[in-house]
Amino acid sequence: MKLRKVTAASAAVLALAVTATACGSDDKDSSSSGGDKKITIGIKFDQPGIGQKTPQGYSGFDVDVATYIAKQLGYKADQIEWKESKSADRETMLQRGDVKFIAASYSITPERQEKVDFAGPYLLAHQDVLVRADDNSIKSPSDLNSKKLCSVTGSTSAQNVKDKLAPKANLLKYPTYSACLTGLQNKAIDGLTTDDSILAGYAAQASFKGKFKLAGFKMTNENYGIGVKKGSDLKAKINTALEKMVSDGAWEKAVTANFGPANYKNEPAPKIGDIKK
Ligand code: GLU
Repeated sequence: MKLRKVTAASAAVLALAVTATACGSDDKDSSSSGGDKKITIGIKFDQPGIGQKTPQGYSGFDVDVATYIAKQLGYKADQIEWKESKSADRETMLQRGDVKFIAASYSITPERQEKVDFAGPYLLAHQDVLVRADDNSIKSPSDLNSKKLCSVTGSTSAQNVKDKLAPKANLLKYPTYSACLTGLQNKAIDGLTTDDSILAGYAAQASFKGKFKLAGFKMTNENYGIGVKKGSDLKAKINTALEKMVSDGAWEKAVTANFGPANYKNEPAPKIGDIKK
């Protein structure tokens, strides 16, 4: 093959192709061809204050954190494609490469670290219980043993109930937390258990005003991490982005904007790599 006429345009195409190859196998969804590049990010769609899809768009703390990270990686907000990543689907979605990273109230655990890597942590939450406002029968976590609880398949919340918090409780597992809320309202269940950060968002919904309350038990530490494919070099880049988000004040701003309305008193920003047991 003779390379007689390599025009500037074809040289540029060649250079781009080389760059794209060099980016590695987990770079499928971001074509390097300029304006049309996209990044696919996994979030929750039904957790107000955390990750929510509404007719107006996407909102929540995880959405703000993910948007900030994407910007540091070179993507504008309109280049983000949001995908719903339900609790039980997260590891598989990362392993399959359906999404570049996941910001979805995703606790860092040793079991999950066998399958995926985590950047962060970027938030420390605690498992709590949401009960009906007129229910005063749950005074301590051990009272949960005689109750009907709802939580989500594939979550640490459901696992913790079975393993340590209330092994005798009657636990119903649904695919999403929002699915548990109807059951709580019509008394099919006595409590919805998951992170206080999530429960505060539900309790503050206009449609539930005065109906539910948080028990106020800080039963576990939930260190939220950004999930990436195992071995991905994104982990280091995302850690750098998270550090910047805290130091430039954007983290605090996102906390106030998203947790303020629910009156959720969050913990201070965790240090990268500091996973609370
Ligand atoms: N943070 C917990 C977890 O990662 C509960 C919330 C959730 O399911 O997203 O499992």
